[in-house]
Amino acid sequence: MADKRDYYEVLGLERSASDNDIKKAYRTLAKKYHPDLNKAPDAADKFKEIQEAYEVLSDAQKRAAYDQYGFAGVDPQQGFQGFNGFSGFDGFGNINDIFDSFFGGGGGFSRSQRSTGPRKGSDRIMTLRIDFMDAINGVTKNINLDMEEQCSECLGTGARSKDDIKVCPTCHGSGRVLRQQQTMFGMMQSESACPDCKGTGKKIEKACTRCKGKGYLKKKIQVEVNIPAGIQTGQQLRIQGKGERGIDGGPNGDLYIEVIVNEDSHFIRDGKDILITIPISAIDATLGCKVDVPTVYGDVELTIPAGTQPNQKFRLRGKGVKDTRGGIPGDQYVEVDIVIPSSVSREEKEYYEKLKSLEKKSRKSVFERFKNTFK
Ligand SMILES: [Zn+2]
Ligand SMILES: [Zn+2]
Repeated sequence: MADKRDYYEVLGLERSASDNDIKKAYRTLAKKYHPDLNKAPDAADKFKEIQEAYEVLSDAQKRAAYDQYGFAGVDPQQGFQGFNGFSGFDGFGNINDIFDSFFGGGGGFSRSQRSTGPRKGSDRIMTLRIDFMDAINGVTKNINLDMEEQCSECLGTGARSKDDIKVCPTCHGSGRVLRQQQTMFGMMQSESACPDCKGTGKKIEKACTRCKGKGYLKKKIQVEVNIPAGIQTGQQLRIQGKGERGIDGGPNGDLYIEVIVNEDSHFIRDGKDILITIPISAIDATLGCKVDVPTVYGDVELTIPAGTQPNQKFRLRGKGVKDTRGGIPGDQYVEVDIVIPSSVSREEKEYYEKLKSLEKKSRKSVFERFKNTFK
């Protein structure tokens, strides 16, 4: 921990920085060092450093503790309450920061693996199916999770009392054992996790009665997930601290929720744009008309001009979807499907016949003009 950089220094901020400054600095730096975008070998470490600094400084309680006590105030090893990840969502703004393609695909980054000492738990991934309109308007969903929570009786040690925690006699507390092996290349030395204490360096004499020595208890919890408006299938939300249990007092992993958006029977979504196909009679297409076109925001009047062709598209500007960061919404495209009646009444037929004879008088039929091009 000695080589850790000050969190303010990491984000390039003064200690008096406002919440907004912190958010801004984090956004800029996280984009700059995201390993998907930055191929420098140290980008992943830088990114983790930025992430950690932000997690602390963006949380008023953790920031206050850090300002007062330094790393000791926020280091889970020192038993600071509230860092172990049960804080849930850090508010909507935070989710936007860590949201979407930015984190898409990979499911987060595991910290560099140390074999002993506090380690962050693994991340979990789950999928969540939502309705088409919920993706457009945003929605709050409650999801049930099975969590493993630190045992309050033994504070995760698994021991009945402090005195029951002894240094492992096999590895003398290091958690590692050296093995010497005679091979054809000579004496080989290898290091591995201590088989006696499984790398913890501790031996528990009497197990905690509440958790039977496991150090944690299974618990069912409900988490409120705020799904921002504009979300698309495949985008992921990260919920901090709701992944697998941390090891040896390390923070929990994170939960990634991959969203799947149900299709709608009329609207087709293409990123920020929406497509809808509407049926128009040949007469309306020929003469033009006004129609009330459904959009995700309600009906909008659209003028279909005279002479509209099959599959012609019209644009309703701004009637698409906002992306998850707000901003300018996309457009809705309205494609015209010209419907030819499969049967007509006797009276209608008479009018059609009249039209036909009129067309013959004034010009050649469409088909005749087509055939002429073969001559
Ligand atoms: Zn216990
Ligand atoms: Zn041991």
